[in-house]
Amino acid sequence: MASTQNQQDGTIASFEGKRIWVTGHRGMLGSAMVRSLAGEGAELLLTTREEVDLCNQAAVYAWMEANRPELVFHIGAKVGGIHANATLPADFVRENLLIQCNVIDGAYRSGVQKLVFVASNCTYPSLAPQPIAEDALLTGPLDANIRSYAVSKIAGIEMCSAYRRQYGCNFVAVIPPNLYGPGDNYHPQHSHVVAGILRRAHEAKMQGADEFVVWGDGTPRRELLHVDDLADAMKYVMRAPTTHDLYNVGCGHDLAISELASIIADVVGFKGRIVYDASKPNGTMRKLLDSSRIRALGWVPKVDERLGLRSAYQDFMQILEDPARRARIGD
Ligand code: GDP
Repeated sequence: MASTQNQQDGTIASFEGKRIWVTGHRGMLGSAMVRSLAGEGAELLLTTREEVDLCNQAAVYAWMEANRPELVFHIGAKVGGIHANATLPADFVRENLLIQCNVIDGAYRSGVQKLVFVASNCTYPSLAPQPIAEDALLTGPLDANIRSYAVSKIAGIEMCSAYRRQYGCNFVAVIPPNLYGPGDNYHPQHSHVVAGILRRAHEAKMQGADEFVVWGDGTPRRELLHVDDLADAMKYVMRAPTTHDLYNVGCGHDLAISELASIIADVVGFKGRIVYDASKPNGTMRKLLDSSRIRALGWVPKVDERLGLRSAYQDFMQILEDPARRARIGD
């Protein structure tokens, strides 16, 4: 078979026949990545935590040596919303540093052709100029609520860049905004903002309550991206020449948490009041990404926000009807 990769510039002409490892394939983004790769003719390599514990260096190296993935979408990580980050900082920094060292170094050792690593918008300084361009990384202090997670993800971005500089590896990182979509984590405390608000709006509606609570004061702004759009963008970056080692992947606009709460109330069909719990952290006030670098590759987001939120709500309702999935969201 003709080579589908140009070692020089890192382009991947096709995923056809490629052995592709998607780490974290049971999570929200990992499962979107698997959906997105279906029909590309790739040989997907998927490992559960029971099969390969990504925190275990010996297990990761042995599995990679035996299975020789050619491309890696490195998605597996310990993730959670602002409350989970504030209460479990040691778990976040430890697990993510271990996983990244094992997967990224393992990719170098086993000769992976290209790796795309997903980082986070919390890696940028909390007072970065808006919209935030990639070169704002490491230019200022981080939000204290999510610092441990952010430092671990910054280390992952730096590993991709360092392995490229020292060893010529085609390792690239992407930074998404706040993600939402099917397969989200709806845990009452540990979820991200869209899932948290969806759940409380739904519960208020079902209980006939006249209000539901939104954390913080409603003024922070967040940029949202549907998880299917991020999976699509990661394929774009995987295919593209490795001209840059970091790409922001945003939809290009943000909205206040209060606006988001109103839209979600509308999607859920909750007619009462929205109240704010200012004892909960606001976190970073704004983190709109400048995504012109990936736009220059030709990538554009496709999922309309309202339609995306409607489908996320339908997914949440399906979870409630499935006892096994329901147990996983702490219900
Ligand atoms: P962040 O973008 O990294 O801060 O992560 P989150 O997805 O957890 O979003 C946090 C922002 O949403 C903060 O401004 C919170 O005050 C606000 N927020 C409002 N309600 C909720 C909720 O139910 N869950 C979460 N996680 N955040 C909420």
